[in-house]
Amino acid sequence: MFEDLLRRWDGEHVVVRHDEATGAWMFVCIHSTRLGPAMGGTRLKSYDEPPQALEDGLRLAAGMTRKLAVLGLPCGGGKAVLAVPAVPDGDERRRLLERYGDLVESLGGSFVTGPDMNTREADMDVVGSRTPHVFCRSVGNGGSGDPSVHTALGVFHGIRATLAHAFGTDDPAGRTVLVQGTGSVGAKLARLLLDAGAVVLVSDVDEERARATGADPVAPDTALELECDVYAPCALGATLNADSIRRLRCRIVAGGANNQLATPADGERLRAAGILYAPDYVINGGGALHGIGLERLGWDAGRLEREVAGIGDTLSGIYRQAEAAGITTSEAAERLAAERLAQS
Ligand code: NAD
Repeated sequence: MFEDLLRRWDGEHVVVRHDEATGAWMFVCIHSTRLGPAMGGTRLKSYDEPPQALEDGLRLAAGMTRKLAVLGLPCGGGKAVLAVPAVPDGDERRRLLERYGDLVESLGGSFVTGPDMNTREADMDVVGSRTPHVFCRSVGNGGSGDPSVHTALGVFHGIRATLAHAFGTDDPAGRTVLVQGTGSVGAKLARLLLDAGAVVLVSDVDEERARATGADPVAPDTALELECDVYAPCALGATLNADSIRRLRCRIVAGGANNQLATPADGERLRAAGILYAPDYVINGGGALHGIGLERLGWDAGRLEREVAGIGDTLSGIYRQAEAAGITTSEAAERLAAERLAQS
């Protein structure tokens, strides 16, 4: 099974380690170093079978190549997956991350990592105790800290640009936005939208979290059917599929979640339904700009804010290109990434 996955992959290489002490599999997937060292988060997750973890890593690493190329960063794409029997805590977690840090160090800087699903600043501090090739350690440990503030800000600028394309004005005031998931990104996005005068509906399986935003909580199971201008997925991936797209009553989908389309055909389904879709890996790029810009490219806070605002301009260009070529916005984003890679 590993062999089939690797044979079909178009990336550069994969480093595999089995961690005897925990039974975890570590997969470091380096998809492309054409634009620079491969960058991508470290995902900590349980899978039924190790090949599923490898498959996730291969797919996500390819996505990072596209994402960083579209953002115009001098970096390649990679991703690491630590496939654990159960997500560990305490000393077991620390020791696993130390051994993983040694593995990253052994790659000599060809792979640089940061937080992803189930890994946060404190985990990057542990990885960073073994290797300098890590982003988003805590500020006290010399890192740039939590990237979600800039992910949310990038989504906010992206929503404005998408409103401008759909309605002719980028002003969120009076627009109704459904924010699905009020965790690190969604809660901050809800606040930005409320401050800009939008009517904000929030749904979270954790009701308390939704209420704490100060926006109007709605039931998570029927949220997608609510009439709104913008649906902003900020929880899970794959919320856009043949069934959900039929039920949507919005004009725009623009949110921070990764892998929002269940299949590539769902981009076309959205277009056919008259819904303008902000490709996820473009609109949620603010976190990558935060880590890479501040820690690798020497940006100051002002430069970072300008680059994050530029996500809106990138999306506007993608929408124009999609219209001119009669293609979906996802296809237009892919073409932009391919052009940037071809120019290198
Ligand atoms: P998080 O875990 O802090 O928040 C996710 C929230 O979604 C939680 O509050 C959870 O209770 C809620 N949720 C889960 N299932 C739900 C459902 N069915 N309906 C409604 N709410 C549900 O995660 P996060 O860091 O805010 O990231 C959110 C999404 O954005 C993820 O897809 C992540 O991959 C993506 N993303 C995050 C960043 C970042 O900087 N944190 C960067 C890029 C992309």
